[in-house]
Amino acid sequence: MRRRLAAGNWKMNGTRQNLPEIAALAAAHPVAAVDILICPPATLLAQAATLAEGSAVTIGAQDCHPAPSGAHTGDIAAPMLADAGARAVILGHSERRADHAETSALVAAKTRAAHDAGLLAILCLGETLAQREDAQTIAVVTEQLRASLPDSATATNTVLAYEPVWAIGTGLTPSAAQIAEVHGVLRACIAEHLGAPEADQMRLLYGGSVKPDNAAAIFAIADVDGALVGGASLRARDFAPIIAALGSA
Ligand code: PEP
Repeated sequence: MRRRLAAGNWKMNGTRQNLPEIAALAAAHPVAAVDILICPPATLLAQAATLAEGSAVTIGAQDCHPAPSGAHTGDIAAPMLADAGARAVILGHSERRADHAETSALVAAKTRAAHDAGLLAILCLGETLAQREDAQTIAVVTEQLRASLPDSATATNTVLAYEPVWAIGTGLTPSAAQIAEVHGVLRACIAEHLGAPEADQMRLLYGGSVKPDNAAAIFAIADVDGALVGGASLRARDFAPIIAALGSA
């Protein structure tokens, strides 16, 4: 039985005045039927972790450097994130792959660093619109998985997030059949890479324009174990119904 996960990615949004959103979520969830994760910007990690302490909400980061320390101005190492109270880190998000030219090899190195620091890695994969229209979706995501997943990955330290690039922040979502197809293929690929027991236990999130009004339908799709949510995770009043829909899926 895979424990479902509702993960929020605040991206480059939020200052200290937004911390009450996390406090509200934590106050509303002393315990929860699903895992709840908020990934605020790095500037808020430590305060967010303190606010969420003792609740069902855990705090994660949005990126890490592959090295544990060193001369890398402006970067943050995975052990530093853990020290600030993060329990997870998003890696390979399409915005980082695009904005920072991150390759799958770099994503694999970062994912291994996250594992070494005891963080849950949320590894993102997804095709562009041009790739989907060119019938390349399955080839793209399976290659990203092969090249981004280090051999340190297990179902305990890694979660996959299928995020079609064209669905992020656009209000567009794939059909249920399209999501089910990709998630089914990803689970079969994990079995090839890590073996059937890990594949059976690894959580697969869908991400891309998940909102309160489409969450229940998305969570009813086979092999969807939760969501990675951008815009709708910024306010507790929007994220709470998504968490509730996941809890009753
Ligand atoms: C994301 O960036 O991970 C994401 C899914 O964003 P949104 O929910 O806003 O589409």
